[in-house]
Amino acid sequence: MTVIIVTQSCDLEQRNYYQIAPIYPETDQKASSLDNLRENDLNYTFYLPAVAPHIQVNSYADLSHITLIPKAYFPRDKVETVLGARLTELAIARTALQKQLADYFGRPFGFGLKDRAKVPSVYLCVSCFYRKGEAVGCEFQAEAHFEKCSRCGDARWLRLVPPDQDGQPGTEPVIRAPSNE
Ligand SMILES: [Zn+2]
Repeated sequence: MTVIIVTQSCDLEQRNYYQIAPIYPETDQKASSLDNLRENDLNYTFYLPAVAPHIQVNSYADLSHITLIPKAYFPRDKVETVLGARLTELAIARTALQKQLADYFGRPFGFGLKDRAKVPSVYLCVSCFYRKGEAVGCEFQAEAHFEKCSRCGDARWLRLVPPDQDGQPGTEPVIRAPSNE
């Protein structure tokens, strides 16, 4: 099996396990998905065009199959020299992989149109923050449905809480206001 190592190269020496993603030929995907695959528009794949001799056919790494492999599976201290290819040498921009990994694992969470505010509060728009670094707040009353952000049109909100407060018991992620100290 051919794999891509997704552990950052600066971590390779320190870690006892590497994270790898298996590489499959693009023909494993439905023909109707190939255009999206090649544009990296499938959120769990990273497209790897054929590059002789390392990658024989157009392929993709499956990010949903990322798994741990003990370092011992790779010849001791020789990962650098046995690497088939490095993304940077293949002119497949490494930043493209970073972006795909960030999109897949870092999908921003927030309350949407189907959710209701449990606590009356100011909520901040997650999309405005991610895209422009802007803090766009909107007040929602208890039991009110969340609405679209007037600035960006998305509906992805997190509650702004005082610096010493937590979210609702369970799983509510929040944005803490900076303390004044
Ligand atoms: Zn917004």
